[in-house]
Amino acid sequence: MASCTVSMSSTRYGLRAGAVKVRSGSPKHLLRSGFCPIAPTRGDELSSRCGEVNGNGSLLSPGLAARRLHMAETRVCSVRAAGGTLLEMKPKVELKKLNYEIPIFDPRKSKAVDLVVVGGGPAGLAVAQRVSGQGLSVCCIDPEPRSVWPNNYGVWVDEFEAMDLLDCLDYTWGSAVVYLDDDVKKLLQRPYGRVNRTRLKSKMIEQCITNGVQFYQSKVKHVTHSKDRSFVVCDDGFVIETAVVLDATGHSRRLVQYDKPFNPGYQIAYGIVAEVDCHPFDLDKMLFMDWRDSHLNKYPELKESNKKLPTFLYAMPFSPTKIFLEETSLVARPGVPLEVIQQRMEARLKHLGINVKSIEEDEVCVIPMGGVLPVIPQRVLGIGGTAGMVHPSTGYMVARTLAAAPIVADSLVKRLGGASHPHISSNTVLGKEAEPSSSQDEDIPTPPEPRKGPFGDEVAAGVWADLWPMERQQQREFFCFGMDVLLKLDLVGTRRFFDAFFDLDEHHWQGFLSSRLYFWELIGFGFSLFTHATNTAKAEIVVKGTPALLNMIKNLTLMKRQ
Ligand SMILES: Cc1cc2nc3c(=O)[nH]c(=O)nc-3n(C[C@H](O)[C@H](O)[C@H](O)COP(=O)(O)OP(=O)(O)OC[C@H]3O[C@@H](n4cnc5c(N)ncnc54)[C@H](O)[C@@H]3O)c2cc1C
Repeated sequence: MASCTVSMSSTRYGLRAGAVKVRSGSPKHLLRSGFCPIAPTRGDELSSRCGEVNGNGSLLSPGLAARRLHMAETRVCSVRAAGGTLLEMKPKVELKKLNYEIPIFDPRKSKAVDLVVVGGGPAGLAVAQRVSGQGLSVCCIDPEPRSVWPNNYGVWVDEFEAMDLLDCLDYTWGSAVVYLDDDVKKLLQRPYGRVNRTRLKSKMIEQCITNGVQFYQSKVKHVTHSKDRSFVVCDDGFVIETAVVLDATGHSRRLVQYDKPFNPGYQIAYGIVAEVDCHPFDLDKMLFMDWRDSHLNKYPELKESNKKLPTFLYAMPFSPTKIFLEETSLVARPGVPLEVIQQRMEARLKHLGINVKSIEEDEVCVIPMGGVLPVIPQRVLGIGGTAGMVHPSTGYMVARTLAAAPIVADSLVKRLGGASHPHISSNTVLGKEAEPSSSQDEDIPTPPEPRKGPFGDEVAAGVWADLWPMERQQQREFFCFGMDVLLKLDLVGTRRFFDAFFDLDEHHWQGFLSSRLYFWELIGFGFSLFTHATNTAKAEIVVKGTPALLNMIKNLTLMKRQ
C-alpha cells in the first residue's frame, strides 16, 4: 500500500472554471499512476509523500477523440506524459436520478401552456419554478428531467448566501489559494463552496411540482411561431403550443438565433472526483488556481506547449482521501485539446504524489466563453448558456444565472399580465393523434386553463431588454475585453496578470469575478489593475491589450446606436 505523510498546515499546490459537459465514456482499466516524490521547493513547507509504483497510469481514455467537441485543430503538440498506458478508469457511479413522481405533460390531451421551458438545467428550472409560482402554466421539456445534473459546480459562498441557497452547498472552504509559481502563493480570503446538485435540483423540482409545472421527456427539434403563439416541435413528433418559449438548452444553444458568426474562446477542462491514497492539499482551502509547471520538467514538449497555452489545476479537497481535481485551460481559441490537458494532469498528479485509486465521477468541460450575444431581441427567449451568460473571463455562470432567473421570470409574468389574464385559448393538439383516455390518464394533473392576450414579439422584446439591459451588455463587453487579453497571454504573462489581479482590493477582484461591477466601476478596476501591475506587465497589457481595447470601444459605440 502507499504510504502518505501529508502536512495539512500548508501545501505548495493550487482557479478553476467550469459548459458542455460530456461524460467521459468508458475507460477500461484502472492503472494507478506511478510514484513520484514531491520535490520540496524554495519557500515552502510541503511535506507530502504519497504513492508507490503500481504501473503506469493514463488519463487518456479510448473514447476521447469522439469527445473533442468544438475543438478545432491543435495548436500545441500532443505528447504522452509518461509514455505508457495511463490512467484509464471508469467512474464507479452512474448519474443518479431523483426519486420524484413528476407530473408528466401529455401532448395528446393537454392544452396549450403559457410557457414552454426547453431544458431542465439550473437556468431552465429556476425560471420554470418562478413563473409557475405566479400562477402561469409551464411545461418543461428535457430528455432526462429526473437526472441529477452532471457538472460539479463551484461557487463563492457569498453568491449563494445572497440567494438564500446555503443549504445547497455540501462542502465549503474558508478560503482559496492561488499558486502563481513555485515561489508565489496567494491566499484569497473568500469562502468557496461546492454545489450539492442533488439538493439544488430537488429543491427546484419540488417547487415546480408544487406550482404545477409539468414535464415532458423529449428533445426539442425546432420551434415555429404565429403572431401570438409558438409551436414547439419535439423529436417524437409532438408539437406543444405555448404563448412563450424559453431556450434553456445550455451551450447547445438549440433554438436561439445568431446574426453574426459565433466566435467564442473555449475553456476546456478535465475533472475527476477521485479516491486517492493521499493528497498534499489543506482541507480548509480550495485550490483556485495552480499555475506551477515544475511537474513538466521531465516532459520538455509538454512544458513548452504549456508555456504558450498554459493550464492550471483547480481542486476541491473533501477529505484526506477524496478530492475533486480539474486541469483547466482558462480560455483559448481554438480550445486546448483534451488529450493535452489530460497528459498535463497526469504529470502533475504524479509530481504531487497523488495516486488515484478510483474515479467516482469525471467530467469534460467545454465552455464557450464570450463571443457574440444571440440576436436581441428575438421571439425565443433565452437564459443561461444559451443567452451568453457565461462570464467571458472566467467560465463561471451558475450564480449569475440563478440570480438572473427571477428577472426573466418576473418580466415575463408582468408582460403576460399575470395569472389573472388569460393569454392562450387554443387547445390545439398537433403531431400525433390523441388516444382514448384510460383511468391512469385521469391522474395526470390538468394544466391551468389556457389564456388569451396580445404578446409574441412584443413580450419577447421586453423580456430580452430586462435580461440584457445596456449596463449588463457593457459589462459583458468589458469581460470580453478581459478574455481577449487573457487569450494573448502565455504562462509568464498569465502569472503576471493574476499577480496584479489578486493584489487588487476585494471590491474589485471579487466584484469582477461575480459580475457585480458595472461599466464605470470596471474602468476603475482596469486602472487599478494597471497600477498594481509590474512595469513588464504594464508594457504587456499595453501591447497585447490595445487591439482588444479598441475592439471593445468599437462595440460599445455600436451598442449605443442600437
Ligand atoms: C463540466 C462543467 C462544469 C462546470 N462548472 C461550473 C462551475 O463550477 N461553476 C459555474 O458557475 N459554472 C460552471 N459551469 C458552467 C455552467 O454553469 C454550466 O454549464 C451550467 O450547467 C449551465 O446551465 P444551463 O441551465 O444554462 O445549461 P445546462 O446545465 O447545460 O442544461 C441544459 C439542459 O437542456 C437540455 N437540452 C439540451 N438540448 C435540448 C433539446 N434540444 N431539447 C430539450 N432539452 C435539451 C439538456 O439535456 C440539459 O438538461 C460548468 C460547465 C461544465 C460543462
